[in-house]
Amino acid sequence: MGRDERGVTPQHEDFSAWYNELVAKAQLVDRGPAKGTMVIRPYGYRLWELIQDELDRRIKDTGHENAYFPLLIPESYLQREADHVEGFSPELAVVTHAGGKELEEPLIVRPTSETIIGEMMAKWVSSHRDLPLLLNQWANVVRWELRPRMFLRTTEFLWQEGHTAHADEADAMRETMLALDLYTEVARDVAAIPVVPGEKTAGERFAGAVRTFTIEGMMRDGKALQAGTSHYMGNNFAKAFDIQYTSEAGQLELCHTTSWGMSTRMIGGVIMTHGDDKGLVLPPRLAPYQVVIVPIGRGVQGAQTSAAARELAGRLKAAGVRAHVDDRAQLSPGFRFHDWELRGAPVRLELGPRELESGTVMMAKRLGDEGKQNIPLSSAPELLPGVLENFQAFLLHRATEFRDAHTVRVESWDSFTEAVASGWALVFHCGKAACEADIKAKVAATPRCIPLDGAPETGRCVLCGDASDYGKRVIFGRAY
Ligand code: AMP
Repeated sequence: MGRDERGVTPQHEDFSAWYNELVAKAQLVDRGPAKGTMVIRPYGYRLWELIQDELDRRIKDTGHENAYFPLLIPESYLQREADHVEGFSPELAVVTHAGGKELEEPLIVRPTSETIIGEMMAKWVSSHRDLPLLLNQWANVVRWELRPRMFLRTTEFLWQEGHTAHADEADAMRETMLALDLYTEVARDVAAIPVVPGEKTAGERFAGAVRTFTIEGMMRDGKALQAGTSHYMGNNFAKAFDIQYTSEAGQLELCHTTSWGMSTRMIGGVIMTHGDDKGLVLPPRLAPYQVVIVPIGRGVQGAQTSAAARELAGRLKAAGVRAHVDDRAQLSPGFRFHDWELRGAPVRLELGPRELESGTVMMAKRLGDEGKQNIPLSSAPELLPGVLENFQAFLLHRATEFRDAHTVRVESWDSFTEAVASGWALVFHCGKAACEADIKAKVAATPRCIPLDGAPETGRCVLCGDASDYGKRVIFGRAY
């Protein structure tokens, strides 16, 4: 297959080039002027809005309320939690001047909001009756990333951050796992990414957390993507910000807090889980246009097929389908077909004079080998929702098979290096930070997570041979 200006580098040739070309050519993003920033174009932003809708509904259904906190945080706030400031310092953007003068105290552009929300929680919580306090914020954050990649690691990104305060560890841990479940569900049921939920090892923990949980997805190059994280903070932030309450027994107690975030990185996950050499493949639940209708023909015939296409789009929308008519008559049908393949529309309907005459429309799915199919115009609105559901299920099934085929239980260092070259290795590890670092230096693989559903098992560490920690196997892989 030849590659013209509109095509992208094949994945097997250079996955990274494939990704970089695709995000631009599919009109998801453009480069921002400041290093590492991105402009999210309407097609990309619609994808984000659809992720937001699905997440926000679940966040509210589980009792959380949205609020908004300031972008600028006094530097002293971050310094109150030692691990937190140490972890985030290299990534901070700091405002030192404003209004033409040097500020008395520098302001941090939020990299995350535990500190400023902690300060407010301390004000708002006084009795056990105020707990749990379940907050969420939709916002942009800034982290000065050294190796930025569109969506995956930008210096400014969009996300939601949940922040909650609880009376005790048990309640806070329930919340931490609830947020992780919610992420697992959105990834699996909306983005069709079969993520593995698990706990991070100490070396990969969030700065200031007692325990960090993650969902890890496998991309089509075998690398892992951390697609969302949920942290149990213990009393760390409660101590730093005096988040205290009076218990039923009248005692002053420290709260236990949590935080959890999912970002625009998810869009990168969708692209790299489902995309192929022709371009994006969008799961219907996230596709800005689930069905694109391309009217064909010139002059009078063109006017007739365009009118029929608009009429069909109206009936599809009434049936709950996000339909779009591409009647850019100046572009050939072939160009338009190609364009929507590149941009990942799950279903294309071609409507030419011949179809119109026979009261049908030609359906082409973005994936699958059944070829094109002629369907009656009249029943298209009843048919399409089912076609889209099947497409959604097919994507999840395909991604699950891919992940499982590239996840290997290994016992020896040789098979470990082989496994992480193309996917994930399920191995025993001693749990020592130095050994983790050795593995990373040798093969660029890191512990992705200790899967929650892993069976209890013990063995010898894949590198150093010491007794395994964790009581189960750990997933190692290269990661974004
Ligand atoms: P954290 O607060 O570090 O746990 O981050 C929460 C989530 O935001 C992570 O699990 C990532 O999915 C995502 N994330 C972190 N850094 C970035 C970044 N630079 N760009 C996009 N997403 C990010």
